[in-house]
Amino acid sequence: MTKGRLAAQVRRWQKLFRLQEWNLETDVVERAELEPKHSVGNVIYNVRGRTAMIAGAREDGGDGAERIALHEMLHLTLADLVDFATQLTDHLSPDAQCLAEDAISHEAERVVQRLERGIMDALGERR
Ligand SMILES: [Zn+2]
Repeated sequence: MTKGRLAAQVRRWQKLFRLQEWNLETDVVERAELEPKHSVGNVIYNVRGRTAMIAGAREDGGDGAERIALHEMLHLTLADLVDFATQLTDHLSPDAQCLAEDAISHEAERVVQRLERGIMDALGERR
């Protein structure tokens, strides 16, 4: 996957999801550099600054760019909700806060995967 290919897909989903207020950067990196382990893409964002960096694994070829961009842009669509939910954990004890933050990111991941699959299936039916 090339940076240009990923950037084009990120711009596509940014427009389709009406996320134009975000200032986005893309990068292509070695898979080993991505967190969490075994992921092929990730997004790091700043909700208040409306900036985000979307990274994809160089080794991921073929139509990986479309799917990675879709997945990470779905995370960005949920960013305000995740950020708000995470702020609500501030008053918890450190242990409870850790559990709550894990639960929030786990549930966000489930929603993102569900939407990603549905959208890819819908696109496949149209092709
Ligand atoms: Zn994810």
